[in-house]
Amino acid sequence: AGAGAAGGVAPESGDRRSRFRRICVYCGSAKGRKASYQDAAVELGKELVERGIDLVYGGGSIGLMGLVSHAVHDGGRHVIGVIPKSLMPREVTGEPVGEVRAVSGMHERKAEMVRSADAFIALPGGYGTLDELLEVLTWAQLGIHKKPVTTNSDSLYSSLSSLASQ
Ligand code: AMP
Repeated sequence: AGAGAAGGVAPESGDRRSRFRRICVYCGSAKGRKASYQDAAVELGKELVERGIDLVYGGGSIGLMGLVSHAVHDGGRHVIGVIPKSLMPREVTGEPVGEVRAVSGMHERKAEMVRSADAFIALPGGYGTLDELLEVLTWAQLGIHKKPVTTNSDSLYSSLSSLASQ
């Protein structure tokens, strides 16, 4: 079951610091249909800041990706955006926040995101987010990494973990 899925960011006793240094957030390049998706992106960004966690993400400044990355950057934590050069005109508008890691393509992007983070959280998104989430879940299932993967509780993906246990 669960393909390595786990609860994620439990605070250590006594304070809100996390055992995770860097968390990768997968999320939409659009803002989505519900305002609650945008709220979740900003809240997650603030939560990472509060727990002293840096962000790894897909490097875009649009949609939920833009909201979460700005929330983390504005809160003073490090932001690492991993993006193929060819996608920058499409997904980056204006000055990108934080560190930009330009990679050669989509496969390299996903591999670099998995290497760079200690845990993974998927917020709502489209096909791209679903692809990233499924890959990190199947890699956990195959033992390629042993890092926790979770989705936000009100997400489109909550039925995935029950599928995984069928
Ligand atoms: P979406 O959820 O479709 O809005 O896409 C979210 C992010 O996933 C965007 O930065 C897309 O460029 C990215 N993405 C889409 N397809 C892939 C893929 N096959 N591999 C890696 N990233 C992808």
